[in-house]
Amino acid sequence: MPNDNSTLLPSVRSFLSSPRQMLIDGEWVDAKDGRTFATVNPSTEEVLVDVAQGSAFDVDRAVAAARAAFEEPSPWSRMTPRERSHLLWRIGDLIEAHADEFAQLEALDNGKRVTAARDGDVAVAAELFRYFAGWATKMEGTTIPMSVPGRAFHAYTRREPVGVVAAIVPWNFPLLMACFKIVPAITAGNTVVLKPAEQTPLSALRLGELLLEAGLPAGVVNVVPGYGDTGAALVEHPGVDKVAFTGSTEVGKKIAAAASGNLKKVSLELGGKAPNIVFADADLDAAVAGAVLGGYFNEGQCCVNGSRLYVQRAVFEQVVEGVAAAARAIKVGDGFDASSDMGPLVSQEQHEKVLSYIRGAVDQGAVLNAGSADAARERGYFVTPTLITSVTEAMAVQTDEIFGPVVTAVPFDTEDEVVAAANNTVYGLAAGVWSRDLGTAHRVGARLRAGTVWLNTWHADDVTLPRGGFKQSGWGRELGSFGLDDYTELKTVIAELR
Ligand code: ADP
Repeated sequence: MPNDNSTLLPSVRSFLSSPRQMLIDGEWVDAKDGRTFATVNPSTEEVLVDVAQGSAFDVDRAVAAARAAFEEPSPWSRMTPRERSHLLWRIGDLIEAHADEFAQLEALDNGKRVTAARDGDVAVAAELFRYFAGWATKMEGTTIPMSVPGRAFHAYTRREPVGVVAAIVPWNFPLLMACFKIVPAITAGNTVVLKPAEQTPLSALRLGELLLEAGLPAGVVNVVPGYGDTGAALVEHPGVDKVAFTGSTEVGKKIAAAASGNLKKVSLELGGKAPNIVFADADLDAAVAGAVLGGYFNEGQCCVNGSRLYVQRAVFEQVVEGVAAAARAIKVGDGFDASSDMGPLVSQEQHEKVLSYIRGAVDQGAVLNAGSADAARERGYFVTPTLITSVTEAMAVQTDEIFGPVVTAVPFDTEDEVVAAANNTVYGLAAGVWSRDLGTAHRVGARLRAGTVWLNTWHADDVTLPRGGFKQSGWGRELGSFGLDDYTELKTVIAELR
């Protein structure tokens, strides 16, 4: 609970008042073996509620339900695109109507600020349903000419759903990441088994209730909470046609291997270590503000954060001082406290991991211009926003995705030098360039090996834009007009006209 329990909405209090079950085939059920796990408030380290923990048996039931919901003559398989469109819109409206409730659940379970959850995660989740509601009726194919002398054909393509989708998501944007998978999947007529992250299962379970309330047929979306083994059972299940995963590159590799049994389609949105490049001719106030937002957004727990700052030498001191001053001014505190600028990290494990990266860098001779290797508070998983200089490209703090409020800053002299350093990573999710010279900005942007490149901005985004990774940051693209490709099979139909 937050420090002041009275701030909780009655609906949230009631949601947390009894153990949460899993959603299978339109019913709320316990795990077959009765197991549960506790989900914890990272601001207070207190248990919020116990949640049903899915085993391979529960996964099997959920996949069977999703299969039955997918196959003809199920109500879902008979629903017209327009009906799906209206349903999607209705769900968006319901999420918006429950925005405060979702925001509180997200703040309790993940630690993020209530306002950040409401204006970011929840608002975008609602918008996703509305954006994709428009696509449900626009899943068009093409007619394609054939050239066979003396014979006439009519050839065309159809876009059809892949089938049963296993959606496995992380804890940094719990509701939003679930919606990133569920929304395009059901827009295209698939069915889903969702496994939320073990750290943050609550908003996905509440979403499950709203999906039923909106009229989504039983079995179309099933929610099975659990740990990595629950996810692994899904990925190995022969009844699953596609896996849509967001998480670490390490687990992404395991998923790619495990999915090969029945050659499931796989889409992966994995780690990042985005370079943020500031040229001396940039608008430095904007660049500093962008570096702060890009570095510390969502407590630094965002795969497209600009965690590696490269600054041209002439303005290095100025930019470092600007970012350090802004980092020092960030007030770390409970996500329910309106005066907090930044909440805690999601878990004790993440807290220890991030602090050990900072400690390791200091031990290797790096300098902390802001922040600390000590916990920011005695209670709760708080970390002080940290800016590190005097790092080498070989240090772990420079190569690894830390997933905390930790930014490194490195000076550079030439464009070639910084492009080489920026691209010297296994990741390729996002990158950014700050320069008033349009030629420099676009040229360097084109040279950076990343799925998203921001020029003179950071975190500017829209549900209309595709996102995904180069290199080991993933397979496939999510959202925008490309976002349905990974959730559809393309069928070619050839008819001879006799
Ligand atoms: P993070 O390091 O950010 O916690 P992970 O990649 O470990 O991210 O986890 C992301 C999601 O993948 C979570 O829902 C987690 O339970 C799940 N997961 C972890 N290991 C596996 C696995 N071997 N197979 C399938 N899912 C897994």
